[in-house]
Amino acid sequence: MFTATGDDWADRAATLPLHTRMFIGGAWEEGSAEPLTPVAPRDGRALPKISAASVGDVDRAVRSARAAFDSGVWSRIAPRERGQLLIAFAQRIHDNAEELALTISLEMGKPVREALQTELRAVVNCFRWYGEAADKVLDEIPVTAPGSLALVTREPAGVVAAVVPWNFPLTMTAWKLAPALAVGNSVVLKPAEHTTFSALRLAELAHEAGIPAGVLNVTPGTGQVAGRALGEHHDVDVVTFTGSPEVGRKFLGYSAASNGKRVWPELGGKTASLVLPDADLERAVRATADGCFYNQGQMCTASSRLLVPRAQRDRALEIAADVARTSLPADPFEVTTSMGAIVSERQLAGITGFVERAQAEGGELAAGSAERFHAVDGGSYFAPVVLGVTPQHEVAQREVFGPVLSVIAYDHVEDALAIANGTEFGLAAALWSTDLNAVHTLSRRLRAGVVWVNCFEEGDMTIPFGGVKGSGFGRDKSLHALEKFTDLKTTWIELS
Ligand code: NAP
Ligand code: MG
Repeated sequence: MFTATGDDWADRAATLPLHTRMFIGGAWEEGSAEPLTPVAPRDGRALPKISAASVGDVDRAVRSARAAFDSGVWSRIAPRERGQLLIAFAQRIHDNAEELALTISLEMGKPVREALQTELRAVVNCFRWYGEAADKVLDEIPVTAPGSLALVTREPAGVVAAVVPWNFPLTMTAWKLAPALAVGNSVVLKPAEHTTFSALRLAELAHEAGIPAGVLNVTPGTGQVAGRALGEHHDVDVVTFTGSPEVGRKFLGYSAASNGKRVWPELGGKTASLVLPDADLERAVRATADGCFYNQGQMCTASSRLLVPRAQRDRALEIAADVARTSLPADPFEVTTSMGAIVSERQLAGITGFVERAQAEGGELAAGSAERFHAVDGGSYFAPVVLGVTPQHEVAQREVFGPVLSVIAYDHVEDALAIANGTEFGLAAALWSTDLNAVHTLSRRLRAGVVWVNCFEEGDMTIPFGGVKGSGFGRDKSLHALEKFTDLKTTWIELS
C-alpha cells in the first residue's frame, strides 16, 4: 500500500479530483471571501481557485460545529462507537492514500513517495491509534471521607478550532483532529492556504466513514481572515495551533481579546545536534545533515545546528557538504526523488536571503549557494547549503525553514550546552555520545521538549511532542493530547 510504484504520477496529477469549496455541516459551500489562488511549486502551474471563508462563513462553521456538539450525535455516543468510526476513517484514508499523497505533492512540492510513505502512513496510524484509545481512558475516584463520593471526570471541551501549517499538512491535521474527535469534540479546521485541497478531501473521507455532519468542518481561507476569525470567535472553546511563533502569539492575543479560550501553540524550532567528542562523527554528521535537509528543510524539528568539538569542525563540514551535494532536488513526481520543491516562491526568497546574509556576515559556505536550483521548469527549488558559522550569526539563531545547516564549533561541553540552549526556541535537541553519564546529565539540561540520543526524528504515537520557551507549550500525540481537549469535572456526592 505505502509503496509508490509506477511513473505515471504526472499523468495522474493532471486528472486528480480537487475540491474547491468549504465543507460545513456535511455539505460543500461557496465562501464569500476573495478566492485563494494556489500554485503548484513543482512547476509553477496555477491550480484551481479555492473558495475562501469570510468572518461570516467562519461563524456559520462554528455554529454548525456547536449544533452537532449540542445534539450529542458525536459528543454523547459511546466512546467505543466513536473509536470505531475513527478507525473506519483511518481505513478510508488508507484506501485513498495514493490520491492524498499526490494531492500533497502537487500542492506543497514534497516528493510523492515521501508523502505516501511517511506522511500518509503517519496519518492513518494516528487516527487508528486514537480510535483504539477512545474507550481506554479512565476517570478518577479520589479517596474521600466515608460520608462522601467524589467523581473526577473528563468532558469534551466543545468546539475546537484547528489551525495548521503546510509542511506536513495532513500529519499536523491528524495530530489535532484525532485526539479532539476521540473525546467527543466538534472541530473547525483552517488549513494552510497552500495545502487546502488535501484537507478538503480528508473531511470528505471523514464524512464517508460515518462521522456525522457538523462534527468536522473545513473553512479554507487566509490566516488573516479565516484563522483570525476562529481565534476571535466567542463560541470556540479551544484553539490548537501549529505554525510560526509570530502567529502562535497572535492566537494568545485573540483569546485574550475575546472569550479567554484555551490556546495550544506548537511553534518553531532551532534544533541543536550536539556531537560529543566520543561520538562516531561520520554517523552523527550524516544523520544531522539528513535531518536538516529532510522535507526540503521545512520542518519545525529540522536539525539546523550541528555542534562539534573545534578539532572536528573541518571534518564535520566536509562530511555535511558531501551529504548536501548528494541530496539535490528533483521532480517530486519521480519515485526516486527524495528532495522536492520549496513550498512557494516567497518561501524560496526567504531562504536565499538567509544564505546571502550569512555569507555577508562572514559565514563559510561549504556546500550549495544562495541561488535557486533548477529541477523542473517553472518550479521552486533550492539545493542544500552547509555553512560554517558562529552561534551569534543570524542563520544560527533564526528559523530558516529551508535546507540550510549551520555548523558550529565548541570548545568545552559546557559551552556546547550554552550554545544549544542559546536561542529563543526549545522544541527539540539531539545528543550523540555513548557515555551514559554525559547522555543523562546533558539531556536533563537541554531546554527542549524532545531530546533524541544517538538518533534523529525517532518516536511513535505513544510519546508527547512539543516544545518549551519560544517553541510554545502545546503537546501533540500520546494520551496527554486527549487532556488538551477535555475539561475536568468534579461531582461531589454526600452520602447519608
Ligand atoms: P504560519 O505562517 O504561522 O501559519 C500557520 C497557520 O496559521 C496557517 O494556517 C496560516 O494561514 C495561519 N495564519 C497565518 N497568519 C495568521 C493570523 N494572522 N491569524 C490567524 N491565523 C494565521 O506558519 P507556516 O508558515 O504555515 O509554517 C511554518 C511554521 O510552523 C514554522 O515556524 C514551523 O516551525 C512551524 N511548525 C511547527 C511545528 C510543531 O509541531 N511545533 C510543526 C510544523 C511547523 P495561511 O496559510 O494563510 O498563512
Ligand atoms: Mg506563514
